Amino acid sequence: MDNNQSTDQKPSPAASGLYVHIPFCLQKCPYCDFSSFDDIPYLADNYIEALLRELRYYKNNFELNFDTLFIGGGTPTALTEKQLDYLFSGIYSMVNRKKMKEITVEANPETVTERKAKVLEANVNRVSLGCQTFHEHHLKKLNRIHDASAIYAAFELLRKYGTKNINLDLMFGIEGQSTAEVLENIKKAAALNPEHISFYMLTVYDHTEFGRLKDEGLLKLPEDEIMEHMYLKGAQVLEEAGYAQYEISNFSKPGRQCIHNLNYWKPGEYVGVGASAASCFDGSRYKNIDDVSEYIKRLKTDSDPAETSEKITPETALKDHIMLRLRLVAGIDPHVFRDQFSFDFESKYSNIISQFTKQGLAINDSRGFRLTKKGFLLSNEIIQSFF
Ligand code: SF4
Repeated sequence: MDNNQSTDQKPSPAASGLYVHIPFCLQKCPYCDFSSFDDIPYLADNYIEALLRELRYYKNNFELNFDTLFIGGGTPTALTEKQLDYLFSGIYSMVNRKKMKEITVEANPETVTERKAKVLEANVNRVSLGCQTFHEHHLKKLNRIHDASAIYAAFELLRKYGTKNINLDLMFGIEGQSTAEVLENIKKAAALNPEHISFYMLTVYDHTEFGRLKDEGLLKLPEDEIMEHMYLKGAQVLEEAGYAQYEISNFSKPGRQCIHNLNYWKPGEYVGVGASAASCFDGSRYKNIDDVSEYIKRLKTDSDPAETSEKITPETALKDHIMLRLRLVAGIDPHVFRDQFSFDFESKYSNIISQFTKQGLAINDSRGFRLTKKGFLLSNEIIQSFF
């Protein structure tokens, strides 16, 4: 990173989404694959300074034109009120808050106190609350730091202090979980009337505690057929409750889709600041180092925090477009596709299209090519067949 670059001719715009990564959590969940740590809270002040410095680099070198901000983690609300205030005022001194259509912060129910709910209301317009389940025995299995009553208390506080756009994260496929319990979770979540519900399958990653337990035969997840049933029934109950699906795992009330995430799946440009954050703009992709201490050190010495960078070739752009668009219910728009890649999607992939439409895994009509709910369950395999 070179903070002394000329600012006379700034490329414009840099990106439309800004992501800020906060890697601190009160307690590490055994399934968690995110860059998050429960043993370094003492680094938080220096870390905030570092990420504001990284953002300043972007401000000095690019014409920033963000319309969404997403503060994720980790658990951003694990920061103290003072740290949150400092973080928000630092960000808003560099980016134009008035242009932001959506400002999201992720929160763990246990961390939402009366004072933090006030800080959030003053600084964001959307809160994403990690609930996962309302069943105590499953919360314990997931080593979540909160119980079900904390979910209700956090939701109530957020509403009390005026947060009008709330997402609840719900997980299915937990060891020992039945479809009836999954549906009960959805009904309890919908009864709170949030604007958005993320409903996603537990994925076990090798390098996590759950990965180790699975290898040792100590973690038994529901069979694939049961998982599929949970997903299809769950999606149906969500839609009956007024939450329309717009992505594999995301459902919302009308007009309440997450704008920031929709930009990822478009796929659009974005800038990520903080340890492990990824960026994609000006024809390149970057990924920052995961190590929080090293990230702070690099920013202190004006060194580049990126661990990897790559130019986006026409091949990777095509792959990204198909892969990300097929996550969306809207799928691949043939006109957008032709404009971007200068060839016809339908002609090029006619065999694949007819194979999956015949199997009921996809639909292809004037609106484009998109996966059905059954298709979403096999999305990895379907996407692979294009390459
Ligand atoms: S609270 Fe979220 S980010 Fe933190 S360890 Fe648990 S799943 Fe990971």
